[in-house]
Amino acid sequence: MIEKNLKEYREKRHFEKTPEPPPELGRPGTDSLFVIQKHKARRLHYDVRLESDGVLKSWAVPKGPSMNPRDKRLAIRTEDHPLSYADFEGVIPKGEYGAGTVEVWDRGIYLNLKPKGKSNSVRENIQKGHVEVWLQGGKLRGGFALTRIREGKDEAWLMIKMRDEEADNDDVLEKQTRSVLTGRTIEEISASKGYLKQDPPNVHISMNGRTLALGNLDKVLYPEAKFTKADVLNYYIAISTFILPHLERRPLTMKRYPDGVTGQHFYEKSCPSFRPNWMQTVATGKTKVVTYCTIDDRASLVWVANLASLELHVMLSRAPEVLQPTMIAFDFDPGPGTDIIDCAIAARNLRGLLAKLNLQCFAKTSGGKGFHVYIPLNTRTTFKETKDFAHALALMMEKAYPDQLTSNMRKAMRKSKILIDWSQNDEHKTTVCAYSLRAQPRPTVSTPVTWEEVDEAIAKKNPRALYFETKDVLSRVEEHGDLFIPALRMRQELPQIAKVG
Ligand code: MN
Repeated sequence: MIEKNLKEYREKRHFEKTPEPPPELGRPGTDSLFVIQKHKARRLHYDVRLESDGVLKSWAVPKGPSMNPRDKRLAIRTEDHPLSYADFEGVIPKGEYGAGTVEVWDRGIYLNLKPKGKSNSVRENIQKGHVEVWLQGGKLRGGFALTRIREGKDEAWLMIKMRDEEADNDDVLEKQTRSVLTGRTIEEISASKGYLKQDPPNVHISMNGRTLALGNLDKVLYPEAKFTKADVLNYYIAISTFILPHLERRPLTMKRYPDGVTGQHFYEKSCPSFRPNWMQTVATGKTKVVTYCTIDDRASLVWVANLASLELHVMLSRAPEVLQPTMIAFDFDPGPGTDIIDCAIAARNLRGLLAKLNLQCFAKTSGGKGFHVYIPLNTRTTFKETKDFAHALALMMEKAYPDQLTSNMRKAMRKSKILIDWSQNDEHKTTVCAYSLRAQPRPTVSTPVTWEEVDEAIAKKNPRALYFETKDVLSRVEEHGDLFIPALRMRQELPQIAKVG
């Protein structure tokens, strides 16, 4: 039998381009998970996946599952997928393996119906070529049998509904089209569209099996753009696949604008006491312990956005290791008379300096006039080390480009220079998350960009090339995937500070 394991999963994909999860072996849960993903690729099909041994055993079913025992549905065996794939819904960029749209059509737990001996695991049954499971999902219920009919490279199986009280003649695929995760159809996911209507002042939605009450949806939060709270929620739902990995387990500071960007705002560090019991939190703080929210799934993201928390600021560390930064952040802030192009030039100069230290860095717009550079670490370090290193670099930059930039805020304000802010590398500080909205006159977004784009914007002296609103960002992720994935995955050691000087 040909191996269809995570190695094959890894080899088929470019994880810097696709939003799909990396090929990590999961920790098997106590319940066995199943997921069925409707996949609009070159040809529409349904991917049936069963958890076994920390991975998802997978089949592609061209005609999809049927509740009718008379239907014999061809199921082509495909490579094992990581457990985290069960949450994946979104768009796989053009040119990537499986390019197209994935909807989480059904999900639930399953029971192995054929454990004759105690050692008869699903994995063994797959090896032997016959699996019988009871699916307990949102759409599919009852016994299903999978039987191998052809071995070798084009390993083929049949998926057949077993005869039991759940069997049914109705066409479940036609009757049930929406995602069990987000309630969207595959067309809406393709268009990265939300499903909230503009009109009603209050709606309830169901997400990750939780019900959320959303209010004031027609309230205009960005008057100049007539951008409403429903638009804000729809943006965060549409970008969720891309923003969630950057928010996950990071202590969150909310910047709330209950009366919109022209009204008063406030920072909220403590996760509100009226939070639902499923909101995850993490307690940290040197002098005073604060219980922060973390945003670990779509429902949490929508709950926070519903508080008119337009801007999402997160720590540079992740729970539970909140004292261990995963990256270094620099914020280039324009002083009077300078603009984002001057910031981009300074950022590019920092990149050159880092290259000499064999460190790669990645850029995003602030969503305002500034520019951000991140150095991924994802190795063991402390805030003391990252802060000292960032400070040393800022001083070197100031020395190398004394007419353009300073590490001193007062000087920047007085003398029309770029401020290189290194001080955010601190356990108390949070920085604006990639893909977060900003409270600007229009709904701009802190947007990852390539260094080629930075070069081109500088060459053409074109600040507009570094300006992105929500709709621009949604089409960018569809085209490029997540340009900021290296911030999460790239492992780099911090050089000794002595080597820098
Ligand atoms: Mn597929």
